Amino acid sequence: MNDTNVFISQKELFSLYNHAGSPDTQGQGLPFRIPRSLAERFPEKNNAVIRQFIPSPQETVILPYESPDPLSEQTFRKMPWLVHQYNSRVLIRATDQCAAYCRFCYRRAIQTQVSGFLSNTEIANLCEYIQGHKSIREILISGGDPLFGTDTWLYKLLSGIRTASKQSIIRICTRIPIVLPERITDSLLATLKEFGPLVFVVHCNHADELDKQSRTALDTIRQHGFYVVSQTVLLKSINDSVSALINLFTELYRLGILPYYLFQGDLTQGTSHFRTPLSKGLSLYNELRKNLSGIELPRYAVDAPGGLGKIYLPEGCTQNGDGNWFLKTPDGKTALYPEE
Ligand code: SF4
Repeated sequence: MNDTNVFISQKELFSLYNHAGSPDTQGQGLPFRIPRSLAERFPEKNNAVIRQFIPSPQETVILPYESPDPLSEQTFRKMPWLVHQYNSRVLIRATDQCAAYCRFCYRRAIQTQVSGFLSNTEIANLCEYIQGHKSIREILISGGDPLFGTDTWLYKLLSGIRTASKQSIIRICTRIPIVLPERITDSLLATLKEFGPLVFVVHCNHADELDKQSRTALDTIRQHGFYVVSQTVLLKSINDSVSALINLFTELYRLGILPYYLFQGDLTQGTSHFRTPLSKGLSLYNELRKNLSGIELPRYAVDAPGGLGKIYLPEGCTQNGDGNWFLKTPDGKTALYPEE
């Protein structure tokens, strides 16, 4: 998958789009990678899809309340690639590699700290951990993007996990069906099928991402009998309008994919140009509730700063005197989130 022919260089991309900026613009910390096929599918530089992957000088703007690890995953890290924050589920960061790097990624700083895919020894170590924690019911495999690994590597990872935990549900968190749909092959799906129950959580932010190629990939996944749900990040100037969100969620539902989460932007360093103010997010969500059926409406959520976990919005969300927000966690703690 690391074939240089598969990916477009930043210089080529800038010339394709006749970009006004410098082809040397490097986003802070996060590497640049866009599949050539993705650039060809979205040849307009102002398209809401491709803009999510083009580095910007604004990534060097770091605000005082932003963090390199906004979810405090380091606090819950039990081994370099394993995060155990909630009793019943565990998160495996199986790789730091993605087919395309989203410039707003909340793991943008830690993406660069590790490199490659879990080794056989690391897989054995994490499986031992899982086997020793019987409370784990769900195993989230994230990254990076786990489907960016080869079928052989995925087979090793999944067979280890399945041996360690026979009953757990495996969630594959991926953006591959959108950014590199040609990776969704019968052979990949046959490999995954051996280790069910397995749910796909597909990261999709705009209805334009659902073109012919990604629809075919998503349809193929469903035809192989997998559940597919979606997660979306609310992004300034990409999808922060009622019409863009309604189009996206109704289209996903039409494709047989349940909209699962709409995430408020994390306070990740260098991503403020992508964050929608929380007041606007709440107002958009209010409109979505009026216009979408219960099954089309995802949960609006934020990962509370300071490792306080996921909070569903607008529950327990109040604005204080200076306009910033208090967020109440389910266990009664209070997190602060700025109004931007
Ligand atoms: S695919 Fe996921 S992990 Fe990879 S850059 Fe995008 S948001 Fe980050």
